[in-house]
Amino acid sequence: MTLRKHGLVAATAVVLALTATACGGDASGSDEEKINIGIKFDQPGLGLKTQDGEYTGFDVDVAKYVAKELGYDEEDITWKQAPSAERENMIVNGDVKFIAATYTINDERKERVDFAGPYFLAHQDLLVRSDDDTVRGEEDLDSSEMKLCSVTGSTSAQNVKKDFAPEANLINYGGYSECLTGLENKAVDALTTDDSILAGYAAQEEHQGKFKLAGLSLSDEPYGIGLKKGDTELQEKINDALKKMVDEGAWEEAAKKHFGPANYEYEPAPEITETN
Ligand code: GLU
Repeated sequence: MTLRKHGLVAATAVVLALTATACGGDASGSDEEKINIGIKFDQPGLGLKTQDGEYTGFDVDVAKYVAKELGYDEEDITWKQAPSAERENMIVNGDVKFIAATYTINDERKERVDFAGPYFLAHQDLLVRSDDDTVRGEEDLDSSEMKLCSVTGSTSAQNVKKDFAPEANLINYGGYSECLTGLENKAVDALTTDDSILAGYAAQEEHQGKFKLAGLSLSDEPYGIGLKKGDTELQEKINDALKKMVDEGAWEEAAKKHFGPANYEYEPAPEITETN
């Protein structure tokens, strides 16, 4: 009994000591040396973790540029996968400093997080099999015969239900790449999300000739950098970084590099409007 009691006291002392150290470390400086940034891991052209463990894409370049302006070198960055449905949670929980992950700015999300930007404007479209001509216009989508695939927590899935195809069968996965197998083996008729993302999938080597974009512009999707609600200082710094990226030509360079190979005709950099 006494022994166990002592053990408990000792363990408590260790925990207290550790907590004290951790707190001391945190308080020692507001400028942390490392930064966690949320991106997509499975969206070629935007945010992709390659087989050699590299991170590449337009969002990755935007995030690196912003990080640099905030005082972080590339080697200080820890990339975190930010699935569509987890983005607000990751920001609220403090898992990441910011998120650059094809993240559409909208009022619903702004109840939980703030955005800087926008830094890009995409439009919702559909990816279909190359030999399939059933989707010619928006009017072909709203039918119970139509099987659409999208992602939980995305505006793409929401727009289908709310706006253009409430009657369609909507299958939601955790990530868009999971819809591609379904599209290929005809389990679904189309994958719907931003044209920027779809163009990247269509252009992937393993998908050559298999898929095409329907060419519909079903919505406006202005991408913002998601950050903690109320952090106006960070929002301003990121807005300044984005402006600088555009003014210096680094934005155009990154867009050309990542969207050019997919023949994606991107919109010019949008005006920055997110301020508190
Ligand atoms: N831009 C849309 C969104 O933020 C679709 C792409 C995505 O899921 O990341 O929901």
